[in-house]
Amino acid sequence: MARVVENAAEAVLAAAKEMLEKGLVEGTAGNISARQPDGNICITPSSVDYREMTLEDLVVIDLNGEVVSGTRPPSSEKLLHLACYQGFDDVGSVIHSHPVHATMFAVAHRPVPACIDEFAIYVGGDVRVTEYAMSGTDDVGKQAVAALQGRGAALIANHGMVAVGPTPARVLHITALVERSAQIIWGATQLGTVHHLPEEVDKSFAAIYESYMRHHG
Ligand code: 13P
Ligand code: ZN
Repeated sequence: MARVVENAAEAVLAAAKEMLEKGLVEGTAGNISARQPDGNICITPSSVDYREMTLEDLVVIDLNGEVVSGTRPPSSEKLLHLACYQGFDDVGSVIHSHPVHATMFAVAHRPVPACIDEFAIYVGGDVRVTEYAMSGTDDVGKQAVAALQGRGAALIANHGMVAVGPTPARVLHITALVERSAQIIWGATQLGTVHHLPEEVDKSFAAIYESYMRHHG
């Protein structure tokens, strides 16, 4: 059975406001969704200020992207969100963001390596970069699902990040962790050689991600 989020709307709204507060997006950029117990998707509306956003602004769409309820247009990245739910039954929430350091890696088409102890526990391993696809197209979704195999996050080439997991709060944590790691790796690159973790360490941490973190909210 597909993973769902109780009180999806409240969880989406809280994570949306926190995403802006944490500086993971600027203005109205980015979008957040969660899979409701009825199987439909609660998603942020397109281009609404997160500070002003209320529960009434959220939109519910079905898995075909048709609006079920809400008065605003759903996020222009709804096809990205839907591809993640269709691609991964165990995903209850999806967050698309534009964090500065992670987007630097996305522009350079460089993965964020899993160089920091425990990173792989939360993310599953190095954060891959998708092939380029234009914003808002279903191709972004296809590329994201390919890059997300076995991972909690992927970089969207020349654009930003997408992260997936059980709940909006957990996916926001993954987003912030990847951004923080990108900042650290960027700084470490200026200092000299970036040292990778021993392969067996990454493997055992990735196993914890697969068996536990992916499923627990
Ligand atoms: P929306 O405001 O339509 O969700 O779009 C923001 C965004 O980040 C597009 O890639
Ligand atoms: Zn975007």
